[in-house]
Amino acid sequence: MQSPLVVVLRAICPPGLSIVENAPLSRYTRFEVGGPAHILVDAGTESALLEILRAIRESGEPYTVMGGGTNLVASDQGYDGVVLRYTNPALEFAGSTVSVAAGAVLQELVDDVIARGLKGLETMTGIPGWVGGAVYGNAGAYGHSIHERISSVRLLDAESGLVREIDNSACEFAYRESIFKRRKNWIVLSATLELESADIDELRTTAAGILKIRNEKYPPTMRCAGSIFKNLLWSDLSDAVRARVPASVIREGKIPSAYFLEQAGAKGLARGGVRVADYHANLIYNQGNGTAHQVRELIADLKLRVRQQFGLDLEEEVQYV
Ligand SMILES: Cc1cc2nc3c(=O)[nH]c(=O)nc-3n(C[C@H](O)[C@H](O)[C@H](O)COP(=O)(O)OP(=O)(O)OC[C@H]3O[C@@H](n4cnc5c(N)ncnc54)[C@H](O)[C@@H]3O)c2cc1C
Repeated sequence: MQSPLVVVLRAICPPGLSIVENAPLSRYTRFEVGGPAHILVDAGTESALLEILRAIRESGEPYTVMGGGTNLVASDQGYDGVVLRYTNPALEFAGSTVSVAAGAVLQELVDDVIARGLKGLETMTGIPGWVGGAVYGNAGAYGHSIHERISSVRLLDAESGLVREIDNSACEFAYRESIFKRRKNWIVLSATLELESADIDELRTTAAGILKIRNEKYPPTMRCAGSIFKNLLWSDLSDAVRARVPASVIREGKIPSAYFLEQAGAKGLARGGVRVADYHANLIYNQGNGTAHQVRELIADLKLRVRQQFGLDLEEEVQYV
């Protein structure tokens, strides 16, 4: 029998609606682990998202939001509710300002701004996923994060159904952090970014150099979530730990968690079909037959090793469904 929520959604049929029942989350996440979501719903426009959320709330089904699924470990049991994706990819330029909807692929935004000779996102070349996910996790690389360019974010408060716009400071951005990690009922609708004019060839050269390095580190077909753990801020470390860190590994005020993981013997460790890369201690990947349970077991083992050896608690960058 069809779920009552699906019947309602098909009846209101807002634009861009797509519904998949019993959607295997392994197919929608880059790690390729995870069981079925009861329903996966895509909303293509803001009004569709509002209507869909209203129907979800009335149905009483739990829901969670995802984007490109590149930073997620989905449970082997799946998700007994609605997984909602806001797929609107709209981009609007006004001089060096761009407003981008949360469903835009981040790389397409990066390519587009570079092609217009706009500087500010080129170091994000090669970060997979969508803009909403990048805002949520304040994604970044090579010393820069998306928050440096964001002037405001429009969001939907799913509890009240109200749309609001908040400025950069209200987003409480920090290293791989934002208010959206704490306000799970806020859905990022779009962001406005301020960029600046620059030489297109220079931007292209920077982007191409970064992409080459990244493709070696993360082959495009690798089933993973990028870095599993956040790096550590030098300012957060105790004197005892600082004394054990060589100056050569400190970068932009951070110590890569890979440094501690490598000392703790992480490289090459495996649980079933899930393995730590031989060349990078902060990279866990699914060899093809891995499970979410194995990912979590391996993560727990790595955390324990680092805690025992350094007295440090590593924090996951990856998110769980
Ligand atoms: C090979 C590889 C390399 C990577 N390299 C980097 C890197 O260099 N730097 C970096 O920062 N990250 C990196 N990542 C991680 C990942 O790409 C980023 O975190 C990305 O921004 C996630 O976007 P997504 O759309 O895939 O989000 P998802 O994985 O779908 O979701 C991640 C989180 O964001 C939330 N979310 C998604 N969309 C919304 C929305 N519209 N509103 C509210 N919450 C939302 C979800 O609920 C979830 O908790 C890498 C990942 C891979 C696989």
